Amino acid sequence: MNPLFSLTPTERGPIVNVREQESNIPLTISIETTGLSSLVEIGQQVARGQRIAADNYGTQAALHSSVSGTVLDVKTNFILIKTEGDRIADLLEFSTADSRTMLDNLRNAGINVQHLKQGCTLIINAVPPESGIDGHRFLIEEFNSIMIEGLTYLKDALTPIACTIAIPKGMNWTLAGCTVHEINPVYPEGLNAMVVKAVTGKEMPPEVSVIDAATLYRIGRTIHGKQPVSDIMVKVGATLFQAPVGTQVGLLARLAGFTVSQHDRVILGGPLSGEAVYTLRHGISPSTQAITVLSSGSEPTIKDSPCVGCGECVIKCPARIMPNMISRHSEFGLFENTLAYNIASCFECGLCTYWCPAQRPVLQYIRLAKKELSKQPILEDLRK
Ligand code: SF4
Ligand code: SF4
Repeated sequence: MNPLFSLTPTERGPIVNVREQESNIPLTISIETTGLSSLVEIGQQVARGQRIAADNYGTQAALHSSVSGTVLDVKTNFILIKTEGDRIADLLEFSTADSRTMLDNLRNAGINVQHLKQGCTLIINAVPPESGIDGHRFLIEEFNSIMIEGLTYLKDALTPIACTIAIPKGMNWTLAGCTVHEINPVYPEGLNAMVVKAVTGKEMPPEVSVIDAATLYRIGRTIHGKQPVSDIMVKVGATLFQAPVGTQVGLLARLAGFTVSQHDRVILGGPLSGEAVYTLRHGISPSTQAITVLSSGSEPTIKDSPCVGCGECVIKCPARIMPNMISRHSEFGLFENTLAYNIASCFECGLCTYWCPAQRPVLQYIRLAKKELSKQPILEDLRK
């Protein structure tokens, strides 16, 4: 099998702590705030764990500073903070009065809860989303009790009718209070949509909520410490880092031994479903699990070429939609036409782009259309 498609977790190596590695140099973190309003100003001193951005509608998760420091810049889509001092924000309250309050507590602590439903079947996805993106292995094996703490809180908030942890076949992972469902460790079987189908036998059933194992750990850690989680696990090449949210991708690539040259691509996530960043100063978000560095000579290469109508992307699409037609309409700005081709069913695996012999940026066109359509208020399910 092409190693790019293997989801069997790799052997655990040592963890590199970015704060310790860079202890002599003040870290500058860059926190992406797209869709949120800044709560801080340039020059303001902030504490670690302080809320620095939130949305105006009470739906998206708030963002917090992962360091004690001074705000260097506030732009439309990010806040830049230079590390200074050791101020820590006040502890959070976690009332268990009712379900709504419990979920609000999580959102205010930086956990995205929009997709979590009352009385659902709750699925914890512990399958690597892409090859080698397996940092949560460390969390499951070393911090099982913290994850159970998170699960207990979630169960109280959601009262799910069933709870299952999906794991890659061959791993001996368990989580008290969950049944175990083994998943064939081959891409794209670890993506949420595929895991839900494997566990329930249904495609995108409305009564299911799914979160990944790293998010469950963040919930447990947040409840346990009464603080938003500042540091996350990020895999860069073969190295697993513990890094503050907002650590710039250029620093992580350098610490992992990569020299990034012009025209190389640095991707948040894996090479198939990740998204390339346009600057090495881009910071990791709370949900970033990996950074991939692709040299300019690596496959798959994207070209600005026309669709030749071969149908390869349609054959390979696990959502059984027509990526060729969606990408063609999106390419010419006909975004609403993509609705007729069920664009909302695309779960962004990237296989269409990988297999396209014309090397078209099929997934990128799909993402462009989703982004444009999500600006229309009626299209809620595209705003994920
Ligand atoms: S990214 Fe492409 S192959 Fe994957 S689900 Fe979407 S349209 Fe199908
Ligand atoms: S694989 Fe590429 S060239 Fe072939 S139909 Fe799909 S988009 Fe067109």
